[in-house]
Amino acid sequence: MEYQEILERLKESPVLLIGIGRELQISAKTVGAMPDSVEYAKRLCQIFAKEKTAIQPYQDAYQTIKKLIEQKDYFIVTTNTDSMLEHMGFDKERIVSPCGSVLRMQCEELSHGVWDIEEALLADESIACPICQEQGRFNIITNKPYNEAGYLKQWEIYTRWLQRTINRKMMLLELGEGFETPTVIRWPFEKIAFINQKSTFVRVNRTLPQMEVRERAYSVKEDSINFLGRISELLNQ
Ligand SMILES: [Zn+2]
Repeated sequence: MEYQEILERLKESPVLLIGIGRELQISAKTVGAMPDSVEYAKRLCQIFAKEKTAIQPYQDAYQTIKKLIEQKDYFIVTTNTDSMLEHMGFDKERIVSPCGSVLRMQCEELSHGVWDIEEALLADESIACPICQEQGRFNIITNKPYNEAGYLKQWEIYTRWLQRTINRKMMLLELGEGFETPTVIRWPFEKIAFINQKSTFVRVNRTLPQMEVRERAYSVKEDSINFLGRISELLNQ
């Protein structure tokens, strides 16, 4: 499908489901620290607070997503852990991050919950568990046991929203999702596209564009940041 046609489909769909994956995760190289390290989280907070130009291409990509959701009944699912959706000011009621965030921590004792560390990192204050003072770990899916308290409420809202989309004209746009956690976006999106006869599914991926569904489903073999750049150009024409 041509980009112009994708844009037309996006414009005419009242319902929009967006999946955001790895290609849009702020890279370790950009941040200048190892992934999932405290240093990464700290640098990310600093970039968010005062060095925004370092992540300009990402910010532009998210701004384009913001334009696409205008006037839509939408939901956004991300497997990324960089809290970019929150940072870019997306409506918290319409996003869900099932894989967690490196700007949030959990205690080994799950009943101690999860806590935000952004302000503490910026102020060089303690990021230990506020209840037992033990050192916390990132509230991300790769840390087991994973405390799901960080996203479950939003997940319930998402699944209820999905139920309301059945048989509605809908566009699914999957941006740069890999195979790390295919049960969150890749496989469910294929299933939704298969079931909803009024849906159109566009999967954008530079290296993994393959698609299991045949009808009303299109692959774009392109990096998601570049794809959104092209869409942005078309929007501005
Ligand atoms: Zn604790």
